[in-house]
Amino acid sequence: MQLSDRTHQIFTELRVYPSSVTQQGELTYALAEPKPGQRQLVILAPPASRLLEQFVGEASGGAQTMLVGPLDSHNARTLRSELSWLNPATLGLGTSAGFGDRLGIATPGHLRALREAGGHIAPIPAQQSIREMTRTGRSPQQVFDDAMWGVFAEGWRAGFAADADHLKSIDDIDRCVAAGYTFYTFDPGEHVDNTADTAPVAALHQKFEALPWAALEDSPEDLLARYLAPQYVEGRVLQFDGETLVRASVKYGRAIAHVARLYRHLATVSSGRAWEVEISVDETETPTTPAEHVYLATELRRLGVQWVSLAPRYVGRFEKGVDYIGDLAAFTADFAIHAAIARTFGPYKLSLHSGSDKFSIYEIAARETRGLVHLKTAGTSYLEALRTVAQVQPDLLRDIYAFSLERYEMDRSSYHVSAELDRAPSPAGMPDRAVPMLLDQFDARQILHVTFGSVLTAQDSSGRSLFYDGMMEVLHSHPEAYAANLKSHFLRHLRLFAAYSKQAKE
Ligand SMILES: [Zn+2]
Repeated sequence: MQLSDRTHQIFTELRVYPSSVTQQGELTYALAEPKPGQRQLVILAPPASRLLEQFVGEASGGAQTMLVGPLDSHNARTLRSELSWLNPATLGLGTSAGFGDRLGIATPGHLRALREAGGHIAPIPAQQSIREMTRTGRSPQQVFDDAMWGVFAEGWRAGFAADADHLKSIDDIDRCVAAGYTFYTFDPGEHVDNTADTAPVAALHQKFEALPWAALEDSPEDLLARYLAPQYVEGRVLQFDGETLVRASVKYGRAIAHVARLYRHLATVSSGRAWEVEISVDETETPTTPAEHVYLATELRRLGVQWVSLAPRYVGRFEKGVDYIGDLAAFTADFAIHAAIARTFGPYKLSLHSGSDKFSIYEIAARETRGLVHLKTAGTSYLEALRTVAQVQPDLLRDIYAFSLERYEMDRSSYHVSAELDRAPSPAGMPDRAVPMLLDQFDARQILHVTFGSVLTAQDSSGRSLFYDGMMEVLHSHPEAYAANLKSHFLRHLRLFAAYSKQAKE
């Protein structure tokens, strides 16, 4: 971009991010960081620009007006209305990857990894569940805006989406629609009956009769009649027997009714906007069988639900922050059938949740889906932040780790983890150079992973943050180190997906 010498000088003084500089019409926009951690929006405009008045900040005069303003939600919204590439879009069936970012400053590292990976992977840099927002004290709007500032900082114009992750209620949807999300992940997990796999037949039939048939716009007789004929999935024949069908509907029937309710609400409140839906049942106790997947897809479709990706619960264990745990041959066989079902009954993408660090299955997932796949990563961006802290200020990481050890038993309850405190290294007397290695030790890694909410919100008796401020200071004063850690971490995830990636057809 050609800038005048004077503009160049101003931008250098303000420490503008070169990749953010955008000229549009009479205005020049940029993101600056005059002091570490104090990022500002900078806009240059001709004198008396009407457009400039829409932004908040301090304006100074001269041959051209310069406004320096905060990265608040007002300026974010105004900037989005001027620069169309800052608005999230829908991604359709293109290969995609989502990046949960609990601190709100990881987007540049994510986008750099994606850029270097090549191929056609569309990013979802705003991705947070309501559970994570609650734990970190951030609102849907903050998460959304933080990602947008990252997109702006990197000058990423290739498109992105914003994922309102693991939504469970109508209220969750409304908050995220108001913020402008484009990708809605419905999680009906609380309505999945995990006892269906093993319940004795008598109890099973009672539950079957008690399903919400009106909401399902169905009856037991009609359901049983619909599945009498065999189902064909790319040369495989799937024949439902009565018991399999009854178990599948007891397990997922209420979940389907709930998804239909959420979906219709979203369709009503989002009419006229661009939006798309993912359905996730990944956080249930038992794997989703191929027959159950067929049942889910068939019934959701019958109720008018449309989705771009679906996250069944696969075989094996998808624990937080560590590689896949289970038999790879069994996973491959199971996953191949799910991929075939997704092609036959959609097509739609298969989604991999808790997808960080699952290095041994990426190739399988990318290959078997032929790129019709969405990878969801979350939490390991926080771990890379901790790695950066460990490298720069090992004492602080030692304190965070000691605190995480105390909180682990309490915080682990809602996560799939198997770390044990007695296998985790002790922080006492650990030499500085060993501290970063905590991020690579199985138990320490999971313990640090699930205690993020406690760490980020911990305060002393006078209400001062125990760790958050210190962490952010390190990350703000070493943004390149953090971005580099993120980039190398996520490149390991994305390379294999890039090789099989497909762009969405228009
Ligand atoms: Zn999930």
